Formats: sequence, C-alpha cells, structure tokens
Amino acid sequence: MLSLDGSFGEGGGQILRTALALAVCTQQSFHITRIRAGRKKPGLQPQHLAAVNAAAKISNAQVRGATKGSGELEFTPHTVRAGHYHFDIGTAGSTTLVLETILPALALADKRSTLTLQGGTHNPFAPPFTFIKETFIPLINRMGPVISTTLERPGFAPRGGGKLHFTVEPVTQLQPLQLSERGAIRQQYADILIANLPAHIAERELAVIRNVLAYPAKHLHIHVNNKTIGPGNAVSIIIKSDHVTECFTAFGQRGLPAEQVAMEAIGQAQRYIDAGVPVGPYLADQLLLPLALAGSGEFVTMKPSLHTTTNMSVISQFMNITFTSREISPQVWQIVLN
Ligand code: ATP
Repeated sequence: MLSLDGSFGEGGGQILRTALALAVCTQQSFHITRIRAGRKKPGLQPQHLAAVNAAAKISNAQVRGATKGSGELEFTPHTVRAGHYHFDIGTAGSTTLVLETILPALALADKRSTLTLQGGTHNPFAPPFTFIKETFIPLINRMGPVISTTLERPGFAPRGGGKLHFTVEPVTQLQPLQLSERGAIRQQYADILIANLPAHIAERELAVIRNVLAYPAKHLHIHVNNKTIGPGNAVSIIIKSDHVTECFTAFGQRGLPAEQVAMEAIGQAQRYIDAGVPVGPYLADQLLLPLALAGSGEFVTMKPSLHTTTNMSVISQFMNITFTSREISPQVWQIVLN
C-alpha cells in the first residue's frame, strides 16, 4: 500500500483527489495522513468526502477514515464499474473537483457512463463549469473519449444546489496530447453569469470588458439565471485559439465592486495572452493526470505553480513516470512527461 503525506508541497485537497483518481485507474491502494494540513480548515471537508465516496462507489472500494474532518484515509479500490451515477455533495462544495476525481476512471471504463453531480458549479478556487465545458472536456475528448456535459442549474457558495450532467463514452487507452503552440487567437468573448442579483452588476462588468478589451457587442454575453437557490456572479473570458480554448474566470463577492471582478478576469486573460503559451496555469494543473494516464505528452505553459509541482510529485508516486519542467524562454515553461 502506498503511503502519502497530505501535508507535502501545497498540502491541499489536490493531493487527495489525484491519489483517488490514480488509485482507481491503476488499481493501487493508498494510505494518506495529514490530509490538507496546509489549509486553514484541515482534514476532509464535504467536497473531499464527496470525492472519496464517489471514487469508492465507482470502484467498489474499501475505505477507512472517510468522516468529516478526518486527517487520515485508507483506500483500496476494486474494479471500476461504468454506470449511471448521481452524487450530491450536500453543500456548495465544488462538483467539478469531484468530476475530475472520477472522470479519468469512467473515461477508461468498459462501458458508457452517465453522471449527475449536485453542489457548487461556479466556486472560487475550483474549475468553474464554463472552464470544464469550454477548455477541459474538449482536450480530454481530443485524447479519445467522447464526453458531453450540460448545466441544469448553477450553484454558488454558500448555498450550492447546482446540478451538472455528463455522459462519458470511454476508450481503452488515452491518446497522448501535445500542446506546444497556441497558434493564432481566433475568437475572444466574455460570458457573464448572474443569478438572483441586481442586473446592474452584470452590466457594469460588461462595460469594463467592453472598454478595456474592446470586444464587439456580439462577443459580450450576459446570462441571467434566477432559478438558483442562492445569489451568484461569475465573469468568464474565453479565448479560442488554433490549438486550444482557454477560459479565465473571476467570481463576484459581497463587498467587491463589479468593476474589480471584471478587472480580475481581464488580468488573468491578459497575462495568458502576453505569455504567448497555449496552456494557462490552471489548465496546466489539470492536464498532468490525463497525460500521465496516456503515458506520453507535453505542453507549454507559464511558470508552474506549487500546486502543479505538488501534483507532479503525487503522480510520480503512483506511476513509474516523471515530469520534466524547464524554462524555454523567459516565463515560458515546457512540461514533458518522461
Ligand atoms: P483544498 O485543499 O481546499 O481542496 P486545493 O489545494 O485542492 O484546495 P486549489 O489549489 O485551490 O485546491 O485548486 C483546486 C483545483 O482547481 C486546481 O486544479 C486548480 O487548477 C483549479 N482551479 C482553481 N481556480 C480555477 C479557475 N479559476 N479556473 C480553472 N481551474 C481552477
């Protein structure tokens, strides 16, 4: 059984999620201690417990320590079963982080699966649904599987209640992915989601994006959705290039002026455009595991974050591979799977 230290590197929930995903895909057991020791509220929180339970359910795993606040977990998976799954986090915890924990296994299962996830869909510090739909899933599909998704209802902190659906047509082996160049930028647009909040918030965000980025009106969209159980606001900027679509999101918060939310999304997008790379910092994190499962691949990105380097190290503990990262020009990094 593999022993993992959850306080290593970033010391966050990603160590656990990567371990769960790889345990299930490679059929290895693990024991992790000091789970999320680097976080203010350490141990298993509802989103992490939901990820443990979902990974256990699809692999009929034996689990010890899966209780709220637990700092230690033992996980022994069995064979992965495709199927029709429904997981409800029960809080506003991120549905997309639960998705990323179990999607690799379902994408490599023997039959088609369907998946419904309930909880938060547009959470700070997690991939928002727009990123999953526009950026992450198209790249995974390029590796072979056919995954589609729909957003039934957005869910925001603190109340959650969002609902996402996925269908997954698996493959027996993921194809390697190579993303060395961005190519030309073909289209840029902004998607502003607003739920149960005054309309002027979205209008002010839109005005900032129009003024700073000079997008034409047809590339500025406001989606009003008042069917959510709580208020929420997310500003996404989507950049479609020849070889990849990237998505940068900022989240509305009480007390934070709408103009600042828009500027935060613009800042992320501009840093990406200026860097000239295909893969942004969040996507870099999230491509490591699919690349490892494919057994080969590389991409060019910005300076790897501690989150990314921590993830590389967890992956190396499960699989006989290493990632090499090197700065190929100022602020431009190449990550290669060896
Ligand atoms: P915790 O310990 O609370 O679970 P964590 O360390 O696992 O936290 P983070 O480091 O905050 O979580 O990041 C979780 C994941 O969400 C990472 O893979 C990161 O790339 C992704 N992520 C965070 N923000 C965004 C965003 N705006 N767009 C896309 N992905 C994001």
